[in-house]
Amino acid sequence: MKSLQQFSLQKNNSFAVDTVTPVIYYPKNDQDLQLLATVTSGCFYILGEGSNTLFVEDFTPVIIKPEFLGIHVKETNDYYQVNAACGENWHDLVCFCINKGINGLENLALIPGSVGAAPVQNIGAYGVEIADFIESVTWFDFAENKSQHLFKAQCQFGYRNSIFKQQLKNKGIITDITLRFPKNWQPKLNYQGLKDLPENTSAKAIMNAVIAIRNSKLPDPKVIPNAGSFFKNPLVSAAQFLSLKNNHPTIPYYRQSNGSVKLAAGWLIEKSALKGYQMSGAAVHDKQALVLTNLDSASGLDIKNLAIYVQKTVFDLFAICLQPEVRMIAEQGEVTLGAIN
Ligand SMILES: Cc1cc2nc3c(=O)[nH]c(=O)nc-3n(C[C@H](O)[C@H](O)[C@H](O)COP(=O)(O)OP(=O)(O)OC[C@H]3O[C@@H](n4cnc5c(N)ncnc54)[C@H](O)[C@@H]3O)c2cc1C
Repeated sequence: MKSLQQFSLQKNNSFAVDTVTPVIYYPKNDQDLQLLATVTSGCFYILGEGSNTLFVEDFTPVIIKPEFLGIHVKETNDYYQVNAACGENWHDLVCFCINKGINGLENLALIPGSVGAAPVQNIGAYGVEIADFIESVTWFDFAENKSQHLFKAQCQFGYRNSIFKQQLKNKGIITDITLRFPKNWQPKLNYQGLKDLPENTSAKAIMNAVIAIRNSKLPDPKVIPNAGSFFKNPLVSAAQFLSLKNNHPTIPYYRQSNGSVKLAAGWLIEKSALKGYQMSGAAVHDKQALVLTNLDSASGLDIKNLAIYVQKTVFDLFAICLQPEVRMIAEQGEVTLGAIN
């Protein structure tokens, strides 16, 4: 199995933070993973394409970067079943499916990253989540040293959440995923930006519309390094929402089926007058306040400090504690933003 020592990860994270790993392993199959048993009993981090990861120190733990490849399609009378390996690029998989007439993933076009990371935070956009299509996930369990299938219900998908971020964190690797696409496809157009498309729009046209909207709204990480939405949209109780709405009548909100209310983190940051705010080379994007950027050679710590400042400023104004969507990794493993003081 390929491995490299004292390797800079600057090109392997979308914040373009310069940090060094003592060793990076590139397993391509289960046999390679079996050889990593001693590594996985210590401190390590599984890295996909690094577009949801902020390395916050000059050094990282040992890195495992799976490079399993392959996409396989099965067809029945009613549905397509697509199996994709974790090292494939997510957007390439979306294009592959749409070009073959397998519809469903069009709303999830252009989300950066690998197939293997997609179920971890249950990627979602424009009213669709990967959980809508997951049939099963192949999971290589480090303790068992072998693979097993986890079916959708076992994955415990939620909003930007799954069992892979919770009980199974660092316990194994997603090596491939199996998606199911019913042939009686219906377009999902009820999200801002897609509402004006006609009902008979093709999946390819929806994909192109999603690509155009995303290109116009989000900074390209290759030009301005970033990891997309830095914070999750917060959920508040109905009572807390009522008091917020009294004080801020224009607050955008999305009622949830369980009675809670989802708020737009970007709006809260913008109303805290932080759009365009800069600190030590890190910045709140001037058009999309939910995105933190590495504007000018910021370190991971600079970006983390900006995130702490944003979290505290929003808390002081709205009494809401924003939680990061991005995973923050120090030399000794995953860290949080810490308590607000
Ligand atoms: C410009 C931009 C826009 C974005 N827009 C969206 C969006 O619309 N919706 C959305 O949901 N996300 C969005 N994101 C976030 C990001 O694209 C997703 O989180 C994506 O799934 C990250 O993939 P990755 O391979 O880069 O993950 P990484 O950052 O490499 O890893 C993310 C997490 O997954 C774990 N992981 C990676 N691979 C595996 C594996 N094979 N097995 C087990 N664990 C693994 C890692 O340990 C880590 O905890 C955006 C990011 C950017 C930069």
